[in-house]
Amino acid sequence: MYKLIDGKGLASKIRLELKAECDKIRNKGITPKLAVILVGDDSASKVYVKNKSKACEEIGIEFEEIILDDSTTMEKLLSIIDELNKRTDINGILLQSPIPKHLNIQEAFERIDYRKDVDGFNPINMGKLMTGQNTFISCTPYGIIKMLEAYNIMLEGANAVIIGRSNIVGKPLLQCLLNKNATVTICHSKTKNLEEITKTADILISAVGKINMVTENMVKEGAVVIDVGINRNDQGKLVGDVDFEKVKEKASFITPVPGGVGPMTIAMLMNNVIKACKIQNNL
Ligand code: NAP
Repeated sequence: MYKLIDGKGLASKIRLELKAECDKIRNKGITPKLAVILVGDDSASKVYVKNKSKACEEIGIEFEEIILDDSTTMEKLLSIIDELNKRTDINGILLQSPIPKHLNIQEAFERIDYRKDVDGFNPINMGKLMTGQNTFISCTPYGIIKMLEAYNIMLEGANAVIIGRSNIVGKPLLQCLLNKNATVTICHSKTKNLEEITKTADILISAVGKINMVTENMVKEGAVVIDVGINRNDQGKLVGDVDFEKVKEKASFITPVPGGVGPMTIAMLMNNVIKACKIQNNL
């Protein structure tokens, strides 16, 4: 019998703890503040930014949104990042992805001061993660690790298989799991015999963005299944990458979509903003 991993419930609990921590900081006359840059008109991004703004409000973190149109130049984007880097009232800076194709997102991530890089995408923070140093860990991988730990899922020595090697999910997650002493395999679109590899997983994580990417034949009996994917099905309903109804019968633990990884990502962002504020104010 499988257990559902309640990311939403766990994220609410973490947010309450963060609110208490934020109250303490505010009592010292300091208000943690997050700046979010949104470039272009992507409707999903607007929803994500709104959710982040709501979470900030609930916790007591100030939120500033910088909205730029599709035609924004790289020069303009970098100058806005420079300004935010300089401002002492801003503790965390987040550039919402995707951004329009004519802009270089990697260059923009690199420009965000690594001390304010609450998304953990600056190569300095990525490198710190790789070398096992204290850093801002990317919110989705961080949230996944927190979920696995909250459910006492053994990471040390576990065979973990990740499908998806993006810079924002797959690669930092590989490193997070490795830092926890799991044995990690990462798969992608050029991987051969995917099913053979996924069937060896004690912990299987899908971060692809394709409906039914993970079917029951790909999953070992008793595996922990984490679904990062966010997709819309033909009925317009939000679904993950995993064929949930069938896969759940084989899994020991499984995350739902919605209500799994998504809320944890936002909670970890809030965690990183509070952490940045504390470091910057020597608290
Ligand atoms: P991405 O940059 O598009 O990367 C997708 C990855 O999947 C790539 O590494 C790609 O391989 C791999 N892939 C594609 N088709 C495959 C196949 N048939 N077999 C094996 N691997 C395949 O996506 P992302 O930004 O990491 O996001 C992935 C999904 O997670 C999306 O649905 C996104 O919306 C969701 N997401 C959710 C959260 C959350 O908080 N819940 C956060 C971030 C992202 P190649 O590298 O070879 O192209």
